[in-house]
Amino acid sequence: MYDYIIVGGGIVGLSTGYALSEKYPHAKIAVIEKEQTLSFHQTGHNSGVIHSGIYYKPGSYKAKFAREGNEAMVSFCRKYGVAYEVCGKVIVATSKEELPLMDNLYRRGLQNGLNVRKIGVEELKEIEPHVNGLGAIHVPSTGIVDYKGVSHTFARLIQEKGGDIILATKVEKISERKDRITVETDRGTFQSYYLINCAGLHSDRVAKMSGLQTKAKIVPFRGEYYELVPEKRHLVNHLIYPVPNPNFPFLGVHFTRMINGEVHAGPNAVLSFKREGYTKTDFNIKDFLEVMTYSGFWKMAMPNIKEGIHEMIRSFSKQAFLRSLRRLIPELTEHDIVPTHAGVRAQAIMRDGSMVDDFLIDASGRSVHILNAPSPAATASISIGREISVQVPEPPGVHNYSKSM
Ligand SMILES: Cc1cc2nc3c(=O)[nH]c(=O)nc-3n(C[C@H](O)[C@H](O)[C@H](O)COP(=O)(O)OP(=O)(O)OC[C@H]3O[C@@H](n4cnc5c(N)ncnc54)[C@H](O)[C@@H]3O)c2cc1C
Repeated sequence: MYDYIIVGGGIVGLSTGYALSEKYPHAKIAVIEKEQTLSFHQTGHNSGVIHSGIYYKPGSYKAKFAREGNEAMVSFCRKYGVAYEVCGKVIVATSKEELPLMDNLYRRGLQNGLNVRKIGVEELKEIEPHVNGLGAIHVPSTGIVDYKGVSHTFARLIQEKGGDIILATKVEKISERKDRITVETDRGTFQSYYLINCAGLHSDRVAKMSGLQTKAKIVPFRGEYYELVPEKRHLVNHLIYPVPNPNFPFLGVHFTRMINGEVHAGPNAVLSFKREGYTKTDFNIKDFLEVMTYSGFWKMAMPNIKEGIHEMIRSFSKQAFLRSLRRLIPELTEHDIVPTHAGVRAQAIMRDGSMVDDFLIDASGRSVHILNAPSPAATASISIGREISVQVPEPPGVHNYSKSM
């Protein structure tokens, strides 16, 4: 009998386990993960950026948790020796039309309490000499990190407090009684006092298993990357972003120096025909039909059909991808970039067609569910974990633990 079972060994599940093990050192915690290794999906396929919190609506979970999470992530990495670097980034306006959008973003950064600065063309050239722009925002607190390293450190800390990390075990059924929750998996049955659903791309399905009538469905959007060939890495000093389209939750294709020295360019955002589909040909009939028969998807897709087609073209055409990148670095040629990994984002979409913008957390009976945790959830993971540790009840034995201490 566990006090807490966490479904999902991505960064959010592991940070939640870590927060609970810090708060209740004697609690019996298990993280159940269906893959052979931790952080196999979104966490292991992301851009590795510690975001600052500039983009998000003031007062939202995203704004609060990205800012707090940025600081918490940096302290955590420093304390536990995980590779990171606070290198700063520039968000660059490349056309006159983007200048007012850039100003809006700058004001949002100030509203979110960030130390951001508008810079002119000369200063931009000093920071990123190969970038073309009419102006930019400099965000010094943005960084890069090894999120897999962070996840494995969370796992080690959970285990050091007596918690279990149970790999290669898929949660298939959840049932609840007055005093406990029963979790059936393909490798046996577990009992717990409380359950926390951090299942990422499957969070809506796990919620449904536990009887929660979810307000949203996960729609998978693949993000494909190119990599700069080693001889061209010098074109990018740190992180270079465009001004994003304010109508979409994605940031636009950008350049990211990874913690291992590689420079990645991307990601785009195309509908994936499989929730965990990392290549263009990946297809799963159940995942596909679920999206195609979901009215919320069509209500979202129809008004944005032009952008959707543009994304599809950019996915199949290197030239189209290159055109987007060249808006930021005009001297880039098709020989300078080669395709590299892809990731799939779990984006929750409501029945009315709206994309859920903020992190979405819902509770039912003996369980709490994280139903929307897209970017910047890796940055914000420590703060999300702490929030969950506040929302869940204390373990039943907690008073006995403190007596025995
Ligand atoms: C392309 C891309 C780029 C991104 N870039 C950034 C970035 O630079 N910075 C940032 O902060 N964020 C970024 N993000 C977002 C960030 O990666 C995610 O928000 C974060 O990793 C979500 O973590 P998670 O634990 O919720 O999900 P995941 O990492 O997907 O973990 C969920 C886990 O649950 C497991 N699971 C699912 N169903 C079951 C089941 N039935 N039984 C057992 N286990 C189950 C899965 O196998 C998986 O391991 C990016 C995301 C993508 C896709």
